[in-house]
Amino acid sequence: MNQKTYSDIKYPMLEINLKKVYENVRKIVEMCNQRGISIAGVVKGFNAIPEVSLQFVHAGCQYIASSRMDQIIKLKEYGLNKPFMMLRIPMFSEIKEIVKFAHISLNSEMETLNMIQKECESQGKNHKVILMLDLGDLREGVFDKAEFINLAIHVENHLRNVELYGVGTNLGCYGAIVPTIENLRRLCNIAEIIESKINRKLDIISGGATSSLPLIIDGKMPKRINNLRVGEGILLAEDLEKFWGYDMKHMHKDTFILKAQIVEIKNKPTHPIGKVFIDAFGRKPTYEDNGIRKRALLAVGKQDFGLHDKLIPQKQGVKIIGSSSDHLIVDIEDCDIEPKLGDILGFLMYYPPMMYLTENSSIPKIFI
Ligand SMILES: *Cc1c(COP(=O)(O)O)cnc(C)c1O
Repeated sequence: MNQKTYSDIKYPMLEINLKKVYENVRKIVEMCNQRGISIAGVVKGFNAIPEVSLQFVHAGCQYIASSRMDQIIKLKEYGLNKPFMMLRIPMFSEIKEIVKFAHISLNSEMETLNMIQKECESQGKNHKVILMLDLGDLREGVFDKAEFINLAIHVENHLRNVELYGVGTNLGCYGAIVPTIENLRRLCNIAEIIESKINRKLDIISGGATSSLPLIIDGKMPKRINNLRVGEGILLAEDLEKFWGYDMKHMHKDTFILKAQIVEIKNKPTHPIGKVFIDAFGRKPTYEDNGIRKRALLAVGKQDFGLHDKLIPQKQGVKIIGSSSDHLIVDIEDCDIEPKLGDILGFLMYYPPMMYLTENSSIPKIFI
């Protein structure tokens, strides 16, 4: 048994470095604020853990955003005091909660907006909305330009308690469409048409999420864009580097670390023995034969992290080779100092494991 294993810590566990989260948020907020762009800090990726969400507030996010009302309510009850932005287009069944707990919501349907107005009247409240324009990514938003302008005029002129706070768009989520000068300029142009019809400036023109950050880094963001809704780019800073080729050295990638314990170490063949059928998840796998190699079995599985190929081993020489519901298999043949039975291995992660691990109440969260 490894000396460093504390008997009072349960594994697998998720170690969250609050200071590093804070520093990442601060960097993104500063970079964007300098260019007149406010930040809605998106907390849905880590299930809105209050201690982590608080770092978003301390680091200066102007809004706190989530796609789920239960998370917004949780943070409000925790005592977090910032304007809350509801990201997912509202369900009829949550309009009451949205008016009660969220200051701002993203919208695309006239019928829903009319119901928000009714609910505002019965609660005696006002509510701000950002109308979403679909620029081709084909998830949420009004696709037709004339319909979009009409919707804005309807909110402005006919819904007394619903304030037309601004317009926005979402890119890169379903259609994987890249935010560009051209598509975001189209949003700005339509925003300006709306402004000329309502005789005032809109407060917010929200130009997307993490995938819009490269335009800021490159100094190419259209001038009228004055808000982004950012989650992933703040938390892990991995995708921007891996997929976009941006140097993210100044951002911490080890904000969230999965720690799991080794329960078996054996030399085994790299190709399974016998007829290959389907694995535990109904897929027919293929294997490369690299002879006999040393491997470790860890007590953590798909039920905890979802996808093993979105985990990144911290220790040099450790290579992930597969997983099942409750096990993770790693190759340790190339490690300089070989891990021992009972050792704890750490893994950095991309977005999907962060989502699964933070949601799982049986995984302890340790803050450092
Ligand atoms: C999730 C979400 C975001 C944030 O996306 P990231 O890639 O995590 O920055 C922004 N806007 C909307 C509408 C979202 O649903």
